[in-house]
Amino acid sequence: MLCRMDDILKKATQEQYGVAAPNVWNLETIKAAVGIAEKLKSPIILDYGEGGYEENIFEVAMIAKHYGENASVPVAINLDHGETFKGAVRAIKAGFTSIMVDRSSRPFEENLKDTKELCKIAHAADVSVEAELGHVGVGEEYADDNNSFTKVEEAQIFVKETGVDCLAIAVGTAHGHYAGVPKLDFERITQLRNSLDIPLVLHGGSSTGDEALQKAIKSGISKVNLFTDLSDKAIDFMKKMLEIESAKQINLIDFYDEGIKGYSSELERYIRLFGSDNKA
Ligand SMILES: [Zn+2]
Repeated sequence: MLCRMDDILKKATQEQYGVAAPNVWNLETIKAAVGIAEKLKSPIILDYGEGGYEENIFEVAMIAKHYGENASVPVAINLDHGETFKGAVRAIKAGFTSIMVDRSSRPFEENLKDTKELCKIAHAADVSVEAELGHVGVGEEYADDNNSFTKVEEAQIFVKETGVDCLAIAVGTAHGHYAGVPKLDFERITQLRNSLDIPLVLHGGSSTGDEALQKAIKSGISKVNLFTDLSDKAIDFMKKMLEIESAKQINLIDFYDEGIKGYSSELERYIRLFGSDNKA
């Protein structure tokens, strides 16, 4: 069934498990993500990134809504890293059940103002909102400092003023592969969890390490965003197929399917790791 993202995450927060939010961008990835969630009886959040594929948003939304409505488990469709007003409104119009308003690289006041405005619009359309406070950067530029981490006092003001439903926090993860080893500030996650009454989101789940992710969930994270590890596993499967099948003719259908098998197997592993299996 199709759900708002905050409904899925409120339950996860109460029962202390994490919900996987894989990036999806087409029929194959949506079908794979919903299929694995149904197999494991787990809720799932389909994260569709605004960057790169925005021209397909209405077509992708149609596919996601079809699979979400017919699924035996709760499915949310979320706009990942929505950086523009137009993009957010288009996602709401397309039928997304949640949008992320990402103004994390803007000053605090601007982030607050835009998030508040888009919350008003989204809530009127029965769509939930995720915002980001502090800034989760890219792994290639990973630096072990806490300048961009989410501050507890700011988060309290931000949540109260904006009426936002879920908050992505910066606590030491980064997007993509890491240069160096990620160090998470678990103490800060606990403090934020104890100070706020909305679910907390972790971006940059890939390559963070199983133990660290489980500890982050125990400390108060309810949603973990995933792309790079799913993509890497897909490429691994495809490379292996090329090695094994090198003498034979491979067609594109089988080759792409093999990639999706890799994507699915890694997503299945993460759903079990986060403990959301049998929680639907
Ligand atoms: Zn992200």
